[in-house]
Amino acid sequence: MRWKKQLLTLTPYQPGKSIESVKKQYKLDQIIKLASNENPFGCSSKVHSALQSQQPGFAIYPDGYATTLRESVASFLKVNQDELIFGNGSDNIIQIISRSLLHPGANTVMATPSFSQYKHNAVIEGAEIKEIPLLDGQHDLEKMYAAIDDHTNVVWVCSPNNPTGTYVSKNNLITFLDKVPAHVLVVLDEAYYEYVFADDYYDSIELTRTYSNLIVLRTFSKIYGLASLRVGYGVANRSIIQALEPAREPFNVNSFGQVAAQAALCDQEFVQNCKEKNRQGLTQFYEFCERHNLSYYPSQTNFVLIDIKADANQGFQYLLEKGYIVRSGKALGFPTSLRITVGSSDQNEGVLNALGEFLTKQNTEKLSKN
Ligand SMILES: *Cc1c(COP(=O)(O)O)cnc(C)c1O
Repeated sequence: MRWKKQLLTLTPYQPGKSIESVKKQYKLDQIIKLASNENPFGCSSKVHSALQSQQPGFAIYPDGYATTLRESVASFLKVNQDELIFGNGSDNIIQIISRSLLHPGANTVMATPSFSQYKHNAVIEGAEIKEIPLLDGQHDLEKMYAAIDDHTNVVWVCSPNNPTGTYVSKNNLITFLDKVPAHVLVVLDEAYYEYVFADDYYDSIELTRTYSNLIVLRTFSKIYGLASLRVGYGVANRSIIQALEPAREPFNVNSFGQVAAQAALCDQEFVQNCKEKNRQGLTQFYEFCERHNLSYYPSQTNFVLIDIKADANQGFQYLLEKGYIVRSGKALGFPTSLRITVGSSDQNEGVLNALGEFLTKQNTEKLSKN
């Protein structure tokens, strides 16, 4: 068969080890997964009751327009209903954007390291990829702007950025948006938006009114705790949405996801509570890093990237055998760092104790070698 040649260069997404297989392999009773930035507190109890009382039929196709969810999100964000596009996770919207704008002969600009799916989809579409290294863990918007040319169709800005947790400041973003040519779509991926507490963060929805080439992506997978149900959305002016809609599969958001997301949106108290607990959790990580003299990026998300000054895979393996699944920085572009999701206070304490043991062991080994 004559496969697109770019597919041969890609490997499928490597999902983390499953909890069950790790339990068996290392004979552990309990495994704590802090690898995928899932919400350690689950989701709002309103979601469970909504799914019970509004049980969607299995045999019936979902509402392809996500009408009820659309009404709720529109009124929550104070945007028009035709300024929204829904996806099977925001991953799906990244795919729709790529499918709509990227092709051989076009190029796309992104930061590196950043979220892997921008590049993955661009490769599949055969577009040229311009990767601009982070500067101190942050998007280098000046260099990203300089990389834009006549063939640039999409620029990806992940703020807060995965895997560093850093964000683009308001001034930097606005300076950048003021300069980007109108034919270039700027994608602002805000998967962690609800966790942000920085004072100089911007009102991104308001920015979509000023900049007609901006789309903001958000998701129900992270703070809302609905990763398994796959619901994300994009906010942009109606001409962008209209242009993207034909590339969206008709029934891309399932019925359970629609009901759950709508219920989750109605419980902002749950969201605020998780945000607060996450902030406290972040301080547990920072204190640990300061005590052990480790550097980290201050995070606006529910994860921290910590430089453990040792091989990331070794650190990963040590924690795995203690029952903690984290993300090794190896595959993320940070070979001596671990990306650890902020869990509950007890989970944080547990993983940090185990990491402390690892560091002690490393130091003893170093000393005995000298
Ligand atoms: C988790 C994540 C997403 C994808 O979320 P889904 O809505 O579950 O597809 C998108 N962007 C970033 C930066 C993420 O970390």
